[in-house]
Amino acid sequence: MPGFEWFGDAERKEVNEVLYSGVLMRYGFDGMRNGHWKAKEMEKAIETKMNVKHAQLLSSGTAAVTTALAVAGVGAGDEVIMPTFTFVASFESVLAVGAIPVLVDIDETLTLSPEAVKNAITPKTKAIMPVHMCGSMADLDALKSICDDNNLLLVEDACQAFGGSYKGTALGAFGDIGCYSFDYVKTITCGEGGAVVTNNSDYAIKADGYQDHGHDHIGNDRGAETHPYLGFNYRISEMNAAVGIAQMNRLDDIIFVQKKNKTVLKDALSTIEGISFRVLPDPDGDNYSFLSFFLPTEELARKAHKALADFGTDGNFYWFDNNWHYYKKWDHLHNLDGVSPISKQVVDGMPNYKGKEFPASDAIISRTISTLIKLNWTEEEVKDRANKMVEAIKSVL
Ligand SMILES: *Cc1c(COP(=O)(O)O)cnc(C)c1O
Repeated sequence: MPGFEWFGDAERKEVNEVLYSGVLMRYGFDGMRNGHWKAKEMEKAIETKMNVKHAQLLSSGTAAVTTALAVAGVGAGDEVIMPTFTFVASFESVLAVGAIPVLVDIDETLTLSPEAVKNAITPKTKAIMPVHMCGSMADLDALKSICDDNNLLLVEDACQAFGGSYKGTALGAFGDIGCYSFDYVKTITCGEGGAVVTNNSDYAIKADGYQDHGHDHIGNDRGAETHPYLGFNYRISEMNAAVGIAQMNRLDDIIFVQKKNKTVLKDALSTIEGISFRVLPDPDGDNYSFLSFFLPTEELARKAHKALADFGTDGNFYWFDNNWHYYKKWDHLHNLDGVSPISKQVVDGMPNYKGKEFPASDAIISRTISTLIKLNWTEEEVKDRANKMVEAIKSVL
């Protein structure tokens, strides 16, 4: 998912327009900006591309998830169901709004297991938050019907899946509200940035205010604006948004190249008896940023992961040992190690994660390897890589 691989004249041109006007902020200074409204322009581009009514650009994906939860009304003491396999930002955002992250198992989609979700619902549950990990989607029909049956919000963390879709709807735009990240290692980048998308105008108005200290953005005198709600500062700068505009124009090409490269690797690995692939609820909606596959056992997965490196292929992730993406290493969450005291509601409401195991998740993640798909590989390099991967994996089976 590396938008960072493609940075060139288009990005420099957009940033220079901001530099020459000198207006680095997304609001105000109308006379000085030479007509440049980069954040607004990128929001329009996201709305068009994702076919969604409202996009709100933000300073990060973490700010996006936090804003999405807040404006959808998730707050103090509410439970948010989320997967054991994600990035720490997902639960950071839940905690940021005063809510309680309830971890539940994943299935072979590498995202929320609908069965596990059903079993985790309590009277305090307010939202279900699938995370479309590694560029591919959760079983959104199943999760949506659970939400409908239980009157719950569907909040999509699509931070890793920009450009992906589910049965024709953009990931992020399927649920009540969705989130993207444009940090430096995501599908496209702003350097740092994120966005919330929704078809709900009430959420959109609240997001617009929430990310800018509650400003209502009515009229053209910033100092005279009123503040109907409490907010924060999660604004994106014009410089970051400028990079993002150029990157938006590359999105189709990025997905095209990722698809081409992933297909070569997947076709090659398909010939190996004994490995299987991540389940994709809509294979055509993949954003193709990773190829994820399963070995028959944990031991073989560990050996295969090592062999892949020994045979000279980089960028293979074994998430079971990963410090950031899997619940086992989230000691700071399990112990609620805040830098300052945490609200009593959260302390009292947190499930006891100390020593808690998720054997169903372990049984999948301990066998999973994901290969990052790069844009700048030549055709030769992709073929060579495919051959090496096959040799490496066969050497341990
Ligand atoms: C990257 C990421 C985020 C947060 O994005 P930042 O822009 O880095 O703050 C949230 N959720 C997931 C799943 C991510 O991968």
